[in-house]
Amino acid sequence: MTTAHTYVTTTIPYVNARPHLGFALELVQADVLARFRRAQGEQVRFQTGTDDNSLKNVLAAEAAGVPVQEFVDRNAEAFVALREPLALAVDDVIRTSRDPRHRRGVERLWRACADAGDLYRKHYEGLYCVGCEQFYTPAELTGGRCPEHGVEPQRVAEENWFFRLSRYADRLHDLVAGGRLRIEPAERRNEVLGFIAGGLEDLSVSRSTTRARGWGIPVPGDPGQVVYVWWDALGNYITALDYGTGGEDYGRWWVGADRRIHLVGKGVLRFHAVYWPAVLLSAGQPPPTDVVVHDYLTVGGRKISKSGGGTADPIALAGEYGTDAVRWWLLREVPRVGDADFTVDRLVARANDELANGLGNLVNRVVAMVHRYRDGHVPLVGTGIGGGIGAPGGEALEAVCRQAPGLVRSALDDFAFRRATAPVWAIVDEANRYVDLTRPWELARAERDGDPGAAARLDAVLAALVRACETLADQLAPFLPGTAARITAQCTAGESGLPEPRPLFRRLTAPEPEPLP
Ligand SMILES: [Zn+2]
Repeated sequence: MTTAHTYVTTTIPYVNARPHLGFALELVQADVLARFRRAQGEQVRFQTGTDDNSLKNVLAAEAAGVPVQEFVDRNAEAFVALREPLALAVDDVIRTSRDPRHRRGVERLWRACADAGDLYRKHYEGLYCVGCEQFYTPAELTGGRCPEHGVEPQRVAEENWFFRLSRYADRLHDLVAGGRLRIEPAERRNEVLGFIAGGLEDLSVSRSTTRARGWGIPVPGDPGQVVYVWWDALGNYITALDYGTGGEDYGRWWVGADRRIHLVGKGVLRFHAVYWPAVLLSAGQPPPTDVVVHDYLTVGGRKISKSGGGTADPIALAGEYGTDAVRWWLLREVPRVGDADFTVDRLVARANDELANGLGNLVNRVVAMVHRYRDGHVPLVGTGIGGGIGAPGGEALEAVCRQAPGLVRSALDDFAFRRATAPVWAIVDEANRYVDLTRPWELARAERDGDPGAAARLDAVLAALVRACETLADQLAPFLPGTAARITAQCTAGESGLPEPRPLFRRLTAPEPEPLP
């Protein structure tokens, strides 16, 4: 049997401003998938990067009075710096303005589509939103304004290269409808099918070098034009695998991969589920297998803007409240469909309630009882029937521990992150209930009073609780890797038994509300 290969990517954000919590959501979701699949024995490559070649970056650099490359480098650093505070097990980070793999890959992709007869020059006039780096038809605007940015688009008239998207409508429909290109959740899949059914028009895929202010990758053989930033950016998924030289990584992680999974926000669905697969089909390359779409986060009821507010800075939040509190909020509270509203109070409440009280107390209690009643040594008792945790009177605890792996797997196979946390949480709930039910302190008292049955029962209860904590650590590892490692450390005996109980979490305090002006 060969090992499954899975390639997981996030989108690559523009670096015109510092990273915000919405992108952290995407990174954390991708990280959970990568960690989970690795733990299942798959070979996984998890990639992210930065989209340096956007006109937005040029404009932001000009506004800041900084040379473009310097500006882009500085902001790209801030994105790369998310790895540690968010505990991301990333394998590769591509930077599209810096990485030599990128330009040669984009050029090869362009030539492949040109060879297929899918690129041609045409005079074009349209309404362009720089924020989106996208043309809009008047019908797509809301009151004459960009639906994403609320600004009036610019009228642009120039000669551009066009891609024959219209040619691929039937094949795209078949890919999506037949499930070979899976789009989750179903609402987004239907949106894509509707868009394709509405008719696909050819797509402008270059800009004049003047309008791009000389920033970007020149069109091969036409230095007066640069490659459209979206074409350039989408290319990263294969250029980082060195598609440009047809390298070994490209064969292994794209052509030969069992799954090619893109995580994207709802605003860029069309680019990933329509334009990108069409470009790949034109170039004779396989399309992605999965496009997983998340909705948006708001902060305190307002749409996140990259420029606004320190409250949604993921690095600051992780520094103040801890990596796992941030990951847990993102995984536990953000629904699959529909926007989620972030506030620090919600993050703090969730972490205190579940991590400090529910999970932290459980592990702390269990380890403390093993110390108090058994001098730190986990009693050796046989496992229950069928390799269960052998909990006397703990059928419910046995059941949740046994069911968790399958339920987590099926939720993550559906990319339902919040649903995937529920079976893990059920172990915490049941284990705490089991402590209350079996009352080990009463068993200890009965043991001291000479009841031999109580001693054996206490052994079994403590052993079962330690096993439940170990199961919890295993199941929690993709979601909260730091916490999982701390639980494992607490439950791993050395020569003198378990280590002294140490709190897993500190209780968090929400910031004081701002005084009224
Ligand atoms: Zn826009």
